[in-house]
Amino acid sequence: MNVLVINCGSSSLKYQVIHAESEEVLAKGLCERIGIDGRLVYQPKGGEKEITESPMPTHTEAVRMVLDALVNEKSGVLKSLDEIDAVGHRVVHGGEKFANSILIDEEVIQAVEECSDLAPLHNPANLIGIRACRQVLKDVPMAAVFDTAFHQTMPQEAYLYGLPYEYYEKYKVRKYGFHGTSHSYVSKRAAELLGRPYDSLKTIVCHLGNGASICAVKNGKSVDTSMGLSPLEGLIMGTRSGDIDPSAVEFLAKKENLDLEGIVKVLNKESGVYGLSGVSSDFRDLDQASEEGNGRAKAAVDAFCYRAAKYIGSYAAAMNGVDVICFTAGVGENDGKVRAKICGYLGYLGMTLDEEANRTRGEEVRLSTADSKVTALLVPTNEELAICRETVALIK
Ligand code: AMP
Repeated sequence: MNVLVINCGSSSLKYQVIHAESEEVLAKGLCERIGIDGRLVYQPKGGEKEITESPMPTHTEAVRMVLDALVNEKSGVLKSLDEIDAVGHRVVHGGEKFANSILIDEEVIQAVEECSDLAPLHNPANLIGIRACRQVLKDVPMAAVFDTAFHQTMPQEAYLYGLPYEYYEKYKVRKYGFHGTSHSYVSKRAAELLGRPYDSLKTIVCHLGNGASICAVKNGKSVDTSMGLSPLEGLIMGTRSGDIDPSAVEFLAKKENLDLEGIVKVLNKESGVYGLSGVSSDFRDLDQASEEGNGRAKAAVDAFCYRAAKYIGSYAAAMNGVDVICFTAGVGENDGKVRAKICGYLGYLGMTLDEEANRTRGEEVRLSTADSKVTALLVPTNEELAICRETVALIK
């Protein structure tokens, strides 16, 4: 069985074709600048990356171009489109409606649309991708896999905000959490790697990428996570502020003469380690700048690590202990200095990092010493594979 995995943004569309039984990636790539001009990146298994500039007025043309590349005589990986057995779509917000992945029909599309208020930047783009695929691949079964679904097991005390309760009742304003596919995949993989039952393990997953979140997984269920109603809450991120005093919004709006839209843009796009450092949102640039004596770059990374350590501490408290702490995503998988700085705060938990192992990048490895009371693992995330597995499970 071959599954086409789609992650659709407003002007981009990432894709992978995965052979479900072997879990091998047959081809992957992305369409960029949809609605502007159009660029297809296509990479077949074991082959060279191909880049084609071609007009893509809408996502429908983008999907058509991806499918043409997949069955292309020269570098295609499929004989015909009949070899696509299912499509798995990443959908960002499933609200309280979706605690699990689901096969897509008109009713599901309607329900995802109803969640768009909660994720106005993401859900409409995800729906465009779903509609474009349904238009082109008419009878192929499709699944929606939600970033929020894994966190629907959070207890009320974790997801309620201290706001008037009627806002929760009327508008469903609460913590939802994101990166659920990644947190679920990594926490399951950690249990496999340790040979421990998933349903009796206390795990903290640190998904540290450009967007970053931490999740407490107790006995196989998400019990708390750092992102909230939107992906803005929680950790200091690449360009997002994470937690701030809500009063700072009014204060800054007045001082800087910004309207709501302006201030939300600052919080999402001009803050985080980028805003703090004035250098970059990329941790490689920040490391280089720190080495060259840039104090603000160092302060930004220090603040990022401190915030992450505080969340880990609060989740160890929430679960009354922690067995394993996992690092994943761009920064978590590659940046040993950041991992070491975060783990440096965790001595009270009995965490001892193995300095040699901590030099590893992008591979599954035990980062802590054999006698460390808490285990630290590096587990590269694989959201596409997780979406593929969910899709196959639904179809079967
Ligand atoms: P992601 O959002 O998971 O794709 O992560 C992207 C981020 O990972 C980049 O913005 C960088 O900050 C970080 N990153 C990627 N590679 C490295 C590396 N080799 N060392 C440090 N940070 C890295």
